[in-house]
Amino acid sequence: MSEEKFDVVFIGAGPGGYIGAIKAAQLGLKTACVESRGSLGGTCLNVGCIPSKALLESSHHFAAAGKDMAAHGIRLPKVELDLPAMLKRKDDVVATLTKGIAGLFKQNKVEDVRGFGRIVAADKVEVTLDDGGTRVLETENIVIATGSEVATLPGIEIDEKTIVSSTGALALEKVPAHFVVIGGGYIGLEMGSVWGRLGAKVTVVEFLDRITPTMDGELSKQFQRILRRQGFEFRLGTKVTEARKNGKGIELTLEPAAGGEAESLSCDVVLVAVGRRPFTEGLGLAEVGVKVDNRGFVPVDGDFQTNVAGIFAIGDVLPDRPMLAHKAEEEGVAVAELIAGHAAHVNYDAIPGVVYTWPEVASVGRTEEELKEAGVKYNAGKFPFMANSRARASGDSDGFVKILADAETDRVLGAHIIGPNAGTMIAELVLAMEYGASTEDIYRTCHAHPTLNEAVKEAALAVSGKPLNI
Ligand code: FAD
Ligand code: NAD
Repeated sequence: MSEEKFDVVFIGAGPGGYIGAIKAAQLGLKTACVESRGSLGGTCLNVGCIPSKALLESSHHFAAAGKDMAAHGIRLPKVELDLPAMLKRKDDVVATLTKGIAGLFKQNKVEDVRGFGRIVAADKVEVTLDDGGTRVLETENIVIATGSEVATLPGIEIDEKTIVSSTGALALEKVPAHFVVIGGGYIGLEMGSVWGRLGAKVTVVEFLDRITPTMDGELSKQFQRILRRQGFEFRLGTKVTEARKNGKGIELTLEPAAGGEAESLSCDVVLVAVGRRPFTEGLGLAEVGVKVDNRGFVPVDGDFQTNVAGIFAIGDVLPDRPMLAHKAEEEGVAVAELIAGHAAHVNYDAIPGVVYTWPEVASVGRTEEELKEAGVKYNAGKFPFMANSRARASGDSDGFVKILADAETDRVLGAHIIGPNAGTMIAELVLAMEYGASTEDIYRTCHAHPTLNEAVKEAALAVSGKPLNI
């Protein structure tokens, strides 16, 4: 057992912890980052954002080659799926990126400690090392960045083969004939898209009466319409109460959310995607007196400090904030800056959210429902991609851009896009919100032609009733 002194120790090397550790080291703090997973990058790089986007990209190419190329005057021989190659490519992308973080740690002089960390005192982290033995890291500050794990449902036992979480859904050995998703949120719709494009029939069972419940209602309706056209079936207002394996597959018991008669639905694979919960198991929080809320999240003050001085928390373990990689990264940078004695904050009003289906769906700021509920007077401007020349040229003209602006000041309060590359396009509106821009600021900015972003300019013009191309 050895002891040494650090300025800060991050526990968890996901996007919160690894980015925070790099920033802290860049600011001159002696920094360590502890990770138990075996590879760096957390949920995001290993079993989340990156592998899912690799499969979304590959399955998009497969679907486009099978269906959409003819419209472009490209005739292809019968397109065949090589699933092992597709999965290997995904694994290679993950391996390259996770190894890249080890390189970044070396470059920035972050001590890369591989093992399971436990807080034994407000200034001590004991690590059960992957290679055997224990190491005690003495430190001025500790940052909890231990992330989240899949939320399970009673009566449904995940085996990661036929009853899967997102982790199993990223590695199915064959395309299921019928893929049922429990939960019409980010994971369900992205993974449903992957396996649907590869040939599965996809049914989404959602408890509420709409998919993506936190999204702007108009966007969510259009999104569901487009997914239905792609072959998705939806069972809204419905819950799954049991999943039983029989010789042939899985027998699900479905019930109306409001109560009523049960029915059964059979499938080959069922994905449980009803959210994620904070992961702090074995971390020693109770022993050192760090408070958690009734759902296990770790509350913090405006400086990311828990109720124990010198112990901070960031990322998915925080309550009442979106569980997103880029949000965790912002918090990682901010906590490093605060510990280093600088001023820092995260603007939670300008955190974009993106569903990487096709078309993509992207949002920032407030929805129409939220503005109405808050009694804020606003003007809305909308522009469809059908009227955008670039979208027409590329043959991807589903969807629209919608901008919501304060009725009095014209300041942008929210923006919502469903359409091709919406996730990339939203950056312009996130920046606009960070700068407190008005829709006039946006429409007086020159947008290159022909680009998809011209639809943002037109939606900004539409807020005051002056779109040019419709
Ligand atoms: P995590 O990434 O969960 O990292 C925490 C790390 O801490 C883990 O590696 C864990 O092993 C480690 N750890 C835990 N306890 C200990 C301990 N005691 N000692 C040592 N190590 C420990 N978000 C997006 O923004 N965009 C996306 O496209 C996206 N796609 C997703 C797709 C899927 C399938 C999933 C599941 C999630 C996706 N997310 C996405 C969410 C994103 O992955 C999380 O919000 C993000 O990873 C949270 O970062 P974090 O640093 O808080 O925690
Ligand atoms: P989610 O919160 O996005 O969606 C869960 C859905 O399940 C909701 O629509 C909810 O109403 C529904 N639900 C809850 N209980 C249910 C039940 N018993 N029966 C049927 N439906 C039920 O959660 P997720 O899709 O599991 O994703 C977890 C987290 O990971 C999300 O918070 C998201 O932020 C993050 N994520 C982000 C991305 C991205 O940024 N593109 C992709 C994947 C995951």
